[in-house]
Amino acid sequence: MATTAVPVRQSDQSARQTPPTPRSWWRTAVSLPDTRWASLSTGLFLLGGAVQLAGGPAPVFWGLYLVCSAVGGWEPARSGLEALRRRTLDVDLLMVVAAVVAAGIGQVTDGALLIVIFATSGAVESFVARRTADSVHALLDLAPQRATRLGPTGEHVVDAIELSVGDLVLVRPGERIGADGMVTDGASEVDQSTITGEPLPVVKGPGAEVFAGTVNGTGALRIRVTRAAHESVVARIVALVTEAAATKAHTQLRIDRIEQRYSVGVVVATLALFVVPLLLGEPILVALLRAITFMIVASPCGVVLATMPPLLATIANAGRHGVLVKSAVALEQLARVDVVAFDKTGTLTAGVPEVVDVVSTTLTGDELLSLAAAAEHPSEHPLGRAVVRTAQARGLPVAACQDFTSTPGQGVTAVVDGRLVQVGDPTLLTSTAAGSADLEKIRPIVERIREAGKTAVVVMRDGVAQGVLGLADRARPDARRTVTAVAAATGRLPLMLTGDNHTTAARLGEQVGITDIRAGLLPADKADHIAALRTAGHTVMLVGDGVNDAPAMATADVGVAMGGHGSDLARQTADMIIVRDELSALPAVIALAHRAQRMVTANLVIAAAIITALVVWDVVGTLPMPLGVLGHEGSTVLVALNGLRLLRPAAWRRAAPRTRPETAANDMQ
Ligand code: ADP
Ligand code: MG
Repeated sequence: MATTAVPVRQSDQSARQTPPTPRSWWRTAVSLPDTRWASLSTGLFLLGGAVQLAGGPAPVFWGLYLVCSAVGGWEPARSGLEALRRRTLDVDLLMVVAAVVAAGIGQVTDGALLIVIFATSGAVESFVARRTADSVHALLDLAPQRATRLGPTGEHVVDAIELSVGDLVLVRPGERIGADGMVTDGASEVDQSTITGEPLPVVKGPGAEVFAGTVNGTGALRIRVTRAAHESVVARIVALVTEAAATKAHTQLRIDRIEQRYSVGVVVATLALFVVPLLLGEPILVALLRAITFMIVASPCGVVLATMPPLLATIANAGRHGVLVKSAVALEQLARVDVVAFDKTGTLTAGVPEVVDVVSTTLTGDELLSLAAAAEHPSEHPLGRAVVRTAQARGLPVAACQDFTSTPGQGVTAVVDGRLVQVGDPTLLTSTAAGSADLEKIRPIVERIREAGKTAVVVMRDGVAQGVLGLADRARPDARRTVTAVAAATGRLPLMLTGDNHTTAARLGEQVGITDIRAGLLPADKADHIAALRTAGHTVMLVGDGVNDAPAMATADVGVAMGGHGSDLARQTADMIIVRDELSALPAVIALAHRAQRMVTANLVIAAAIITALVVWDVVGTLPMPLGVLGHEGSTVLVALNGLRLLRPAAWRRAAPRTRPETAANDMQ
């Protein structure tokens, strides 16, 4: 039977090798209808102006101005009328009315100028929105579109979204991997930097996990798909950033609420400004011109655009760097954080502890490890996984267990070979049976392990202590630097909240530079500490990774989850996720959030100040209408473009603590 396989070329579109670069500014601009109409309108205006200045016939430049106004004003007029039908008063409509009135009283140049500038600022707005959306979509482009599926009839190139769990996929050298999956055959080095931030390629062989969007090295891999396209790690990243971009900040909601009333106020004031001088005997044209100029300069265009662009730009930029801020509100909170609390295991430490001591009072070391591993087998906790890993590495039997329960922050309990086995925190587990001989024997062992900065875990069988395991975990390489940078960003040294004991925690504290340590905490205690800090007037961020951190995360103003090793519950509860587990991204987002917030404030001040100045000038003196238009629309454009600056990669680099020399060098550009 002939196969229907599509021949695959090495250069096939299915697997672009490099992550896409964002579109150029120019191409973004050209692709938008708003910009095209605005340019046409501007061109016609300039033509009309040239004819007028050259002393050409009036009907010609009048005609040009009118066509220019129609081209540029059509869209705002349409949307303004549509808003009116929904019984809301739109700034667009105010502008079009102002232009029509201006033309009506013979100021056709001013009217056309108003339309041109208004259309231009509208185009800038669309441009800003598109750039932000594009940079979110650039993340989506990380996910490959096509993949080579291996079926009974041979190879087929299919859309990546068509792959289902269990499909076999061939990944050729240099291709991007089409789905999250497990390697079944082949060996290669995979560049996972898009997902994990890890700059060095990781060697993958049978049994290894691979992620959609990562780039295969020089070998060929066959992988079995383990997650559908929409559930892949990269797809979830995109979904989160997209959701965040659809949320509105508190500031914006407040502005939206007052915008309506304000716009109505502007119309009322405009009418008053026209009617009152008229009654006082002013010529109708003078009064009308002043009133219309007022309506233009008092419109809140700049204020409306002040808030969201900087915040959205920041969300998009952070997303590109593996930090997912889940909403605009979270970003606003982030800028206010003045206390940061870190969980210890898995957050400040790498979360891959190793069993370094095995001390038993009743069994052999291997028997103790084997027993503990059997009870820990179903556990998701880093300590539990370490115990199982070590037992397996030593080739010890790991028996199946029944009735497994885990108590976050304490340990696990399970039935192994018909006997009750408990593995967990020595202080808590032994408190019920204090004083018995077996406990007296292990107490000095526990102390010794803790003094060395390691975590002690006791193993009990049928209520009798059998021995102690000592686990050592390395501080994350960037932990100390992060703590310093966070302290600089928030103005206060961070603190540590941990379920582990004080001695072990204090050792780590010395290494990473934290002195305020609250140890021996159960999950609810962590939440209580956060609540107390909030009651004391602080805005608190909690950074954690585990199930045991979820209550505290929910209590904190900003909950941050480590994405790499962290638990699903932690990721769901968090307001922010550090996908690549790079702690040093944390001070960078905090700094960027501060910058965004400062920009919002600056934008609001600029917009409000210009509105006030122009309004006063118009009401007290005589503000020439073209100048009013320029000032007003100019400030709107300025405010809109301001936010875009936060999209630039340089904004992130400047916010990030100096890490690698090349980063610092790039900064100089
Ligand atoms: P942290 O707050 O530092 O992340 P946890 O709250 O997760 O630590 O755990 C606190 C203590 O509870 C650990 O130091 C350990 O003694 C004990 N513990 C928790 N889970 C387990 C487990 N699965 N196996 C053994 N001990 C555990
Ligand atoms: Mg933890």
